[in-house]
Amino acid sequence: MLSALPPEIEEYRAVCRDFATTHLTQYVKPADEGVLLPHELRLKLGELGAIGLPLPEEYGGGGGSHLAWAVLHEELSRVLPAVSMYFQTNTLVAAAILHAGTEAQIREWVPDLLSGKLSSFLAFTEPQTGTDTRMMTTRATRTDDGWLIRGTKMWISNARSSDIGIVFAKDPDDDISLFLVPTDLPGYQPGTQIPIIGVRGTELTDLVLDVEVPNENVLGGKTGGQFATLKDVMPMGKIGICASCVGLMQTCLEEAVTYARNREQQGHPIIDFQAVHRLIADMVAAIEASRQITYWAAACKDMWGAAGTELATAKLFVTNKALEVARMAVSVHGVYGIAQGATVERLLRDAQVFELLEGTSEVHREMVMRAVRGIG
Ligand SMILES: Cc1cc2nc3c(=O)[nH]c(=O)nc-3n(C[C@H](O)[C@H](O)[C@H](O)COP(=O)(O)OP(=O)(O)OC[C@H]3O[C@@H](n4cnc5c(N)ncnc54)[C@H](O)[C@@H]3O)c2cc1C
Repeated sequence: MLSALPPEIEEYRAVCRDFATTHLTQYVKPADEGVLLPHELRLKLGELGAIGLPLPEEYGGGGGSHLAWAVLHEELSRVLPAVSMYFQTNTLVAAAILHAGTEAQIREWVPDLLSGKLSSFLAFTEPQTGTDTRMMTTRATRTDDGWLIRGTKMWISNARSSDIGIVFAKDPDDDISLFLVPTDLPGYQPGTQIPIIGVRGTELTDLVLDVEVPNENVLGGKTGGQFATLKDVMPMGKIGICASCVGLMQTCLEEAVTYARNREQQGHPIIDFQAVHRLIADMVAAIEASRQITYWAAACKDMWGAAGTELATAKLFVTNKALEVARMAVSVHGVYGIAQGATVERLLRDAQVFELLEGTSEVHREMVMRAVRGIG
């Protein structure tokens, strides 16, 4: 590794690396076979302080930097990239409550989300609403003493196993409002697991809602104007995904180098061949550039509180490099790289999922172009 970070962050890296080796290795194979990561892992991540790392200590967070958050995701994802998805929904939900919630909502939910005692979901995507949230059709209408929320959400992480979640719905003013929805309410109907190609082991379902919540479950106590909350919490998600891609790439590199040292053709280890040098050297360059752009975006968030363009640039660059690096690692392995059970084959599938999450590459290209043209 070429990067040098402050000593306390490197010490934290060692703690995260040790956690990943000790607690995550056992889940790699079962998770890829579709066995969901267990609740006890979330509790362990809570004990590590991972879930609340960048959030205030007052409510159970770690008060850490976004740079440390990046290092955490990088190290955990060297072993199991899916784990990022597994725990960071709790972080984002807690951050949204901290950002927009009332004091009572913060005290009731945030500490238990950050300790991992509770699990949560965040539901905005719908069958017809991916990137374009204006097409949202889930409706919140007034009842005598609360709100009736009706609609169908799609691609929701943790909807089955959660205790509580945040639902985005259109209110009577056609604005988007956020509602805290406990999952034990009548009319809360998560679907069955949707199998996808990568980042397996995390729960993903659709969610049909026909639930009534009291007024005190409106996030922040008032409807309207809350879509910005999502924009405020998403940077943490994007930093997490970029850093997970860095960890994923680092493992691809290590697997490729080990394989190239041990595989012999024409009487030589293939690491002696120039064509393989090119693949490995290009992987090193892509990983180091990705690491630096990720740390830079995280540091910008720490320094200035916002890093919209830096993060859009990082998400675009790093997720695409992850796909390239995983493909190069597969190439180094030859046909063994595409065999089911090969680490690099799994990581190539994980990289494809990361490219689509939290805004696709096309969407981030548009964000970068808006910055280039000085719009918004
Ligand atoms: C593992 C996983 C977990 C997820 N978890 C959650 C969750 O917990 N909660 C939740 O609400 N959602 C979740 N999602 C959904 C995710 O947020 C959406 O997939 C994402 O918003 C993209 O939406 P879409 O796939 O419908 O693509 P669409 O928006 O339909 O886009 C399709 C294509 O059109 C392109 N495109 C769309 N709009 C534009 C534009 N303006 N400019 C240029 N190109 C454009 C896109 O780049 C893409 O190539 C999850 C998805 C996955 C894969």
